[in-house]
Amino acid sequence: MTDGFPPEVPAPDEVTAPWWEATREHRLILQTCTRCSPGTQHPPRALCVRCGRGDLGWVGSEGLGTVDSFTVVHRAPRPDLTVPYVIARVRLIEGVVLLTRLRGREPDRWRVGDRVRVAWADLGDGRALPVFVPDAPSSHDTEKGS
Ligand SMILES: [Zn+2]
Repeated sequence: MTDGFPPEVPAPDEVTAPWWEATREHRLILQTCTRCSPGTQHPPRALCVRCGRGDLGWVGSEGLGTVDSFTVVHRAPRPDLTVPYVIARVRLIEGVVLLTRLRGREPDRWRVGDRVRVAWADLGDGRALPVFVPDAPSSHDTEKGS
């Protein structure tokens, strides 16, 4: 599947290595601060965005969220990409936002606020990227015409 994958997938570094390792098992994890609050942050950083300390741990995400905004890409930025595909900001129920892809529904059928759950796009090196698919059929999946 080449709908935008692989994009410029960065190599794991000291900060992001645990996150990438979890993707090999199709687990979505989020960084959490062990000092200041039970909140989460994404993408992984060296320091807590709230208190600036480096006492960070990881928690599993439910992998559920809603579509915050999205763009249907009709013109491929590179010749090896198949269009159309959907780039989206998904807000997880944990509160963080992921820049991701939407799949599993005709691109023009997506709506802001749609409920989604995580799925995985495997990369060639054993890692995977989280993408999101409809969590439940919604009314506009069955609309006739427009
Ligand atoms: Zn903190």
